[in-house]
Amino acid sequence: MAEVLEIKQEEQALINRAYEEMVASIKADLDDNDRKVMRESFELANWAHRYQRRKSGEPYIFHPIAVAKICAEEIGLGATAIISALLHDVVEDTEITLEDLRIKFGDKITRIVDGLTKLDGAYNVKSPQAENFKKVLSTLVEDVRVVLIKMADRLHNMRTLGAMPRHKQLKIAAETNFIYAPLAHRLGLYNLKTEYLDLCMKITDPEIYHSIAKKLQETRRERTSYIKEFIAPLRDKLDDMQVPYEIIGRPKSIYSISKKIQNKKVSFEEIYDLFAVRIIVDVPPTKEKMICWQAYSIVTDVHRPIPERLKDWITIPKANGYESLHTTVVGPKGRFVEVQIRSVRMDEIAERGFAAHWKYKGIAGQPDVYERWLDSVREILENPNVDAIEFLGNFKSDNLFSEEVYVYTPMGDMKILPKGATALDFAFAIHTDLGYHCTALKVNNKLVPMGYKLKNGDQVQIITNKNQKPSEDWLNMVITGKAKNKIRSVMKERKRREGELGMEKLERKFSHLKIDFEANIEILLKFFDYPSRVDLYYDIAMGKLSIPEIFKNFEVEQNRLVEISETVEPEKVEVVERKIEPEKSRKSNKVIGKPRLLINGEPADKYDYTLATCCNPVQGDQVFAYLTANAGLKIHRANCPNATNIMANYGYRVMKAEWSSTTEATFVADLKITGIDDGPGVIERLSHQISTQLGLNIRSLSISGEEGYFEANISILVRNTDQLNIAIRSIQSLRNVSTVSRIE
Ligand code: MN
Repeated sequence: MAEVLEIKQEEQALINRAYEEMVASIKADLDDNDRKVMRESFELANWAHRYQRRKSGEPYIFHPIAVAKICAEEIGLGATAIISALLHDVVEDTEITLEDLRIKFGDKITRIVDGLTKLDGAYNVKSPQAENFKKVLSTLVEDVRVVLIKMADRLHNMRTLGAMPRHKQLKIAAETNFIYAPLAHRLGLYNLKTEYLDLCMKITDPEIYHSIAKKLQETRRERTSYIKEFIAPLRDKLDDMQVPYEIIGRPKSIYSISKKIQNKKVSFEEIYDLFAVRIIVDVPPTKEKMICWQAYSIVTDVHRPIPERLKDWITIPKANGYESLHTTVVGPKGRFVEVQIRSVRMDEIAERGFAAHWKYKGIAGQPDVYERWLDSVREILENPNVDAIEFLGNFKSDNLFSEEVYVYTPMGDMKILPKGATALDFAFAIHTDLGYHCTALKVNNKLVPMGYKLKNGDQVQIITNKNQKPSEDWLNMVITGKAKNKIRSVMKERKRREGELGMEKLERKFSHLKIDFEANIEILLKFFDYPSRVDLYYDIAMGKLSIPEIFKNFEVEQNRLVEISETVEPEKVEVVERKIEPEKSRKSNKVIGKPRLLINGEPADKYDYTLATCCNPVQGDQVFAYLTANAGLKIHRANCPNATNIMANYGYRVMKAEWSSTTEATFVADLKITGIDDGPGVIERLSHQISTQLGLNIRSLSISGEEGYFEANISILVRNTDQLNIAIRSIQSLRNVSTVSRIE
């Protein structure tokens, strides 16, 4: 008993120490009240979590303290966020309620804790990653602090993942890779992003991770002496500037080194720029640019620069707020060394991004990049036409990762667009209406196609006509999420309007059959594998699917549509099906709705035909069709005992017939499929859908993926465009597939 008490006291002493260390690490200013409330929040959390332990065995309270410390030390957040971080798990894990928090700590903190609790809540099963991502972003636009605290929470969980079972580690790593690393990047939290990616790699590629870590360790001494050698001749000259400065050599992250090894296909030993040299000058904002260029001049006097590698993000910061001057020079022994030159303010923004920008708001005269970005996130979120997966696709493709191009309006205003953006993207970026009504585009006074890829410094002029309307193929001429969304919603609206006729036809049929529309429409969607009603109506309106064609598959039983279990010619067709592909489910045949037989080159479905019992033809046999006097068409084998007689005497009644087997496909169609890669099994699901469900042959399949997103190129063999369209729709309906498009 006494022993237990002793352990308890010892533990409590450790907990108190951890808390004190956290408080000591706070960079923001605190007043007495802040300290008092913070202490209270710690005591409440400590009490509430008193019986809980982490997987590692330590008392749970160490986790919220650690999260608060990351918020304080690494993100530089203030009292409100730190208090919220201390309390972040109490509502979810203990008997403390939001109401309790409201009474004790007020609305602001309660709202943040509530936001954090909700982010952990249940997610949509259909597309967990995409839905999660959307939820995180919705929270982000409401209160950025919630997401920043969540990122600290995630970082601490990642750091202490060792105690978790392997499958949980992988899941958390995937989500971090997918959601939090890109967000950290976009919010300019470089240190967090780098650590996320390193920790993810440690889980997903432990061997590579540890081998690089080991090699970095082994080469450390050599690297340190090289950096000294590189820096020494710079020192005197930098001293002459009479400005306080710091010069350091920093190793690059394990993740970025491994990317380099992969991309450049070199070994660790062949990578020379394992580190970057950073010069940080301490000057007031008005002198930053001048002093940085002066430092650049000194560096390049001593070490020969590689001109193409000069990047000036001081004059024009990156879209995520990053400011710095980068150059690569040839150092001793002919090795390339990257040098980054920036001010203290820029350095803080570079490392803590959004969290640091408050401190310098309005100081350097740069536009508020975060507000602008948050506005664009808000805009995307507000579009009701976009589902989570589509949204994510757009979001990941432009807003998060890519580099930018800088282009100008005719008035000389600069616009920043993601690299790869087209002239049409530019039109949509300026104003939605300019995009909609754009008829022609001029770049640097010359007409260009709408899909023209913008280059830095281009001046773009938009020519509009109020009668112009977007069309489907515009989607191939834009890359930005905004333009894609706007074009898609016009397309959807148009499809909906044009499909109204189809809906009316269907409604008439339903009322004729005296069955309820709402109760039965889903049955049709499922049967024909349509992603939405609009698509079904549209195809009916366009004559791609007729009412009789639809309803020949159903009968009405107790006011419900029921699939007819046998076709018109029960035994015969059964025989054919059983003989051809006994293992195939009936369902898959229907999804395709494909004819097994062609008569005069057309699907035999429209003929009333039977298989001749004298020779029982099966798929693959040479066959012909014979129009009987009163029993419709009969299909005979070419070597049927009666064939010679029929051919000789009734040649005019013989029609050409052939099996339409997938192995005799008439053409190859190439599809590009993109979507969300939420773990292994993507290839299996795709190939299962195509070969087993649709019964199509795959000629080739290649898949590549990054950051939880995959792109697959698939060649399939199809007989006609109907079949191809069915295939596209069916693949599109797969969980995690965002887009399916045909590559012409
Ligand atoms: Mn937590």
